[in-house]
Parts: sequence; structure tokens; C-alpha cells
Amino acid sequence: DMIKTENIISKTEQYGAKNYHPLPIVISKGDGVWVYDPEGNKYMDMLSAYSAVNQGHRHPKIIQALKDQADRITLTSRAFHNDQLGNFYEKVTKLTGKNMVLPMNTGAEAVETAIKTVRRWAYDVKGVPANQAEVIACEGNFHGRTMTAVSMSSDQEYKRGFGPMLPGIKLIPYGDLEALKQAITPNTAAFIMEPIQGEAGIIIPPEGFLKQARELCKENNVLFVADEIQSGLGRSGKLFACDWENVVPDMYILGKALGGGVMPISCVAADKDILGVFNPGSHGSTFGGNPLASAVSVASLEVIEEENLVSRSLELGEHFLNELASINNPVITEVRGRGLFIGVELSEAARPYCEKLKEEGLLCKETHENVIRFAPPLIISEEDLNWAIERIKKVLSV
Ligand code: PLP
Repeated sequence: DMIKTENIISKTEQYGAKNYHPLPIVISKGDGVWVYDPEGNKYMDMLSAYSAVNQGHRHPKIIQALKDQADRITLTSRAFHNDQLGNFYEKVTKLTGKNMVLPMNTGAEAVETAIKTVRRWAYDVKGVPANQAEVIACEGNFHGRTMTAVSMSSDQEYKRGFGPMLPGIKLIPYGDLEALKQAITPNTAAFIMEPIQGEAGIIIPPEGFLKQARELCKENNVLFVADEIQSGLGRSGKLFACDWENVVPDMYILGKALGGGVMPISCVAADKDILGVFNPGSHGSTFGGNPLASAVSVASLEVIEEENLVSRSLELGEHFLNELASINNPVITEVRGRGLFIGVELSEAARPYCEKLKEEGLLCKETHENVIRFAPPLIISEEDLNWAIERIKKVLSV
């Protein structure tokens, strides 16, 4: 019965570059929190495509928006206006409170855009001497895979063989205010951080750090840039993870769930005194702001509002976290998280546990070797969540 799955996997592995190591499962269909393999086995998605599918697989409203727009126009390029991009801008500005938006496609491209923005802002607005702008990032960060993003990374494997790296980057330990203070110079353009580090293993900064870092940046005329690509749009139980400390960054970087798991769409949102540094010809993307992705994104953001996914994430996340914390197994060294953004850290490799969870019908992916990440679609029902908790307890209990 595995013939179909095996054939698909062997064809995929025959021709594909080996830059991923997926679990040996093929997903050929999905619906809400559930996905199915070609043999019809059903699994619960506990990863949500790294939080891109917060609205659940093939949410009917989002799919309808996709179909309706596909029947009209899909791509115009930015050489012309399209009739959907304005709606997208309006939605994002209302959501973020910022008055300017620049659309891209993937998260890494939005990060790229953020770094270009803060560098140009440093020269044109702050008055940093040419080519001297510095950006401060955090150890353990994940901002994507472009040269700019890997240049900011502290993970040597993300950088090996890809040099030379982009200059002008300083790293500080995540959550270390004193180190941030030391790192700031008159040439510092921005401090970029994930308000909760996702790929690093769901790392929450020490209480007060976001607020103090934000203040420190303001005092020093340094832009505070929040990469909310994974932590934002309800994942952490607040609309933005910055909201946990009532912090409003100078710039939000959004992606993933912005397209409801249907279309790649990302953006940066900031006020005009920052994003206003762009002029025609200075930046762009053939697909950025395309009408298909714009229409899908508006529907995706409406689903988050209409279905109260932010408060669902908060409430169900608390329940989930408490249940996980009650598991008695010395191999578990920490259970941490906010909303439905939860990491279970083990004193040994997490992958064998992910494989066992798969046998129980739960799709999870380890992050950083020894952390199991639990991040189901935010539309999950309490009943389905309890179904998952039962199975996790079975696998993780001694
Ligand atoms: N920034 C953060 C915080 C992320 O979690 C990710 C993806 O995991 C990215 C950036 C990169 O996004 P993409 O994979 O869409 O380029």
C-alpha cells in the first residue's frame, strides 16, 4: 500500500536538490487541520507549514477569493495598477496602524526589503556617512535564506560555502539589553529581531526586553524592526508577538499566514517617514503586489478577524501548554510557548519522537535537533486539540 507514497518520494528525491530532509510522508490533500496521504491515511497538521496555514488548509473563504480573482486577472506587474492591491494596502495599514506598505512575495524578500529600507533611511534621513550603515540582529535568529538573511545568521551551516557575507551586521545575544546598548553606534540604522524566535525553538525574550529595546532604539534614533513573519497574525495569541509587551515597532515584516497558505505574499509596513525613502526604480518585484495574492491576502486577514483566531490561539494555547506541562517525563527539559506557538525541549533528539507522533497521526517537525514544535492551524477545534493532546501524552509519557 506504500507503493504510491514510495514512488512519489523516490521521484522527488531523484531530481531534487537535497536542501531539505522531510519526514517520509507525502501529503496529497488537506482540509482544515487535517491532511491526507495518497493511501488515504489521515494526519493532523501540527506544523501549519511553519505557520503559513494559520487559517487551516484550503479555507473556503480564501479558496473562493482565489477562484474569483483567478477568473478576472492574476498578474499585471507593477508597470500598471491593479484593482486589488489598494484593498490589500488598506487592510494591512488598518491591521498594523502603519501608513505605508511595500508588498513582496516570500518572507526572505520582505526581510531583504526591510534591510534595504533601513539602510537607505540611515543615509537619507538619519545622516549616516555613505556605506557605513550598521544593522544589529540577534544570535539564533532566522530571517530566511537570501544572502542578506544568511549574513545575519549565527548558524554556521546556513552560511558555509556562501561567502562573502554582507557587511555591516552586528549580532547580540537574544534578549540581552546591555549587549544591544553596547552594539549601538551613531551608524546604527536598525535593530531587527523576532519578538519570539521561531526556528531557534520558540524562544521567548526575557520579560521587559521588547519594551526596553524599543525605548533604547527610540532614544538612539535606531529603527526597531520586528520580523513577525512567523510570530505574527495570531500565532502567539496576540495579533503580533510585540503586543505581548504593548510594543509598536517602527516596522513590521509580515509573510506566511498573510497569504493564508494559498499564495505567497509578504510585506513590510511602516510609516511614510521610513518607507518613503523608496522612489520609482529603487526596489520592486514582478510578482509583488499581484492581484491574485492581494485578493487572497485580504480574505486571509478577514478570516483571522471574523473567526477570532487571535483569541482562539490565546485560549487554546493556554490549555495546550498546561496539558503539555503536566506530562511527567525526565526527558522533557522545558515546555514553553505563547498561544498556539509551543516548543517542547528535550534532553535528546526530537526527531524519533516526531516519527512516533506520525505513527499516531500527528505531523510535527523538530526544530534545532531537540525541540518539538507544536503549531496547529489556529482554526483547530478544542475537540481536535484534545485528540492531539491524548496522542502526544501517549508518545511523550514514560
Ligand atoms: N523570518 C522568519 C521569522 C521566519 O520564520 C521565516 C521562515 O521560516 C522567514 C523570515 C523566511 O520566510 P520565507 O521562508 O517565506 O522566505
